[in-house]
Amino acid sequence: MTLNKLFQLLDQKQEAMVADRRWLHQHPELSFEEKETSRYILAHYQGKDVQIQSQVGGYGIKVTIDTGKPGKTLALRADFDALPIQEETQLAFQSVNPGVMHACGHDAHTAYLMTLADCLIEIKDQLSGKIVIIHQPAEEMPPGGAIQMIRDGVLDGVDHVIGCHVMSQMPFGGIFYHSGPTQQARAKFVIKIQGKGGHGSSPHEANDAILIASQLVVNLQSIISRRLNPMESGVVTIGSFDGKGQFNIIKDAVTLEGDVRAMSNQARQLIEQEIRTICAGMAQTYQCQIEVDYQNDYPVLINDNPLTELVRQAVTNANIPQVNQIADCGPQSPSEDFAYYSQERPSCFFYIGASPQEQAYPHHHPKFDINEDSMLIAAKAMGAATLRYLMGE
Ligand code: MN
Repeated sequence: MTLNKLFQLLDQKQEAMVADRRWLHQHPELSFEEKETSRYILAHYQGKDVQIQSQVGGYGIKVTIDTGKPGKTLALRADFDALPIQEETQLAFQSVNPGVMHACGHDAHTAYLMTLADCLIEIKDQLSGKIVIIHQPAEEMPPGGAIQMIRDGVLDGVDHVIGCHVMSQMPFGGIFYHSGPTQQARAKFVIKIQGKGGHGSSPHEANDAILIASQLVVNLQSIISRRLNPMESGVVTIGSFDGKGQFNIIKDAVTLEGDVRAMSNQARQLIEQEIRTICAGMAQTYQCQIEVDYQNDYPVLINDNPLTELVRQAVTNANIPQVNQIADCGPQSPSEDFAYYSQERPSCFFYIGASPQEQAYPHHHPKFDINEDSMLIAAKAMGAATLRYLMGE
C-alpha cells in the first residue's frame, strides 16, 4: 500500500528532518528578510524531479511535483519566518542571530514539509495529479507572505490547499481540527483626536482632547456589547493612549491605537463601520477633528467542510504511531495568514499537538520549544491527507 511505503520513507528520513529543523532553528530570519532560509530550502530541491519557482511573492518558493498522470492538484503550505525575540531555550542549536528566534515552530513546518516532499517525489509513480509545495515567507508580519505569493500566482492550477501548525500547548500525540470559521480576522487602527490646547484655569477656551479620547475609548467598547449580534464574536482593544502632557495644561491632541478581532467577515465589517460612525459622531458632538486610519489585515480563516472531513478521515484511517487522539479543538484565537488561501480555494488548516516533555511555553515566548517527534506526525498526517485526496486512499 502506498501509504505504508510513504510512512516507511518518512521514518527513514526522520533524522534528516530533525537536522533541517535544527539548522533552520539556529539560523532564524525575520519576516521579509528570509534570504538565507529561502536559499537553504531552494538548495534542498535543486536537481530533484520537480519544477521549482523561486522569488514567488518575495522569498517564497513554489515546488510542483507532477506525477504525469491526470488528476487534481493539492497545495501543501508551510511558513518559514521567525520572530524578533531573544531566545532563552539553552538548546544546543539555539539561535545564532541575536534578537531573532523561531518561536512559533515555523522551522518545524519547513523541515517536515521538505522531507514529506522528498518522499512524495520518490513515490510519485504510484500517484496521480499534482502536488504543489508552498514554502511561504513572512507569516508573522502583515501584509504577510501569503497574499504576495497568491498575487504572484502560487495558486494557479491549484484546486485545494492544506496546511498545519505544530502547537506547543496542545498535547503531544493529538491531531486537532475544526470546520468552518477557525481563526480570527484582525485589523488595526490609529485614531487622532485634534482638539485645542489651553490652560486648566480656562477650559471654556480650550477643547480637551484627553476628555474626548476618554469618552471615545468607552464608546468604542459599546460596539461589542450593543452593536454586535451576541451570536457573533469580536474584540476591540485600545492598546495605546498617547496623552502625555503637563498636569495643568489642557491637551490639544491625543492618539489612540487599537486592535480588532472578529470571527466572521460580517462582524469584521460591522466593527469597522461602527468605529468610523462613532468617531464621526464624536467629532461633531465635541467640535473637534477625529482622523481614523483603519487597516484590515488577515481575514477569517475558514476551513472547508468537505476538505476538513477528508483530512479527519485520512488521519484517522492512517493509524499514525504515537497519535492517541484526533479531536475537534473548536475555533482558535490567534490570526494566521493561511486565511488568504482559504479565501481563494477550499482549504483546511489543522493542528499537531507538540507539547514538549518538560514545561510547555506558549508560542512567541523566549523559551518556546516543541517535541521534535511532532514533526514526523505532521509529515504523516499531511502525507495521509495528500494520498487520500489524490488517490482516495
Ligand atoms: Mn505560526
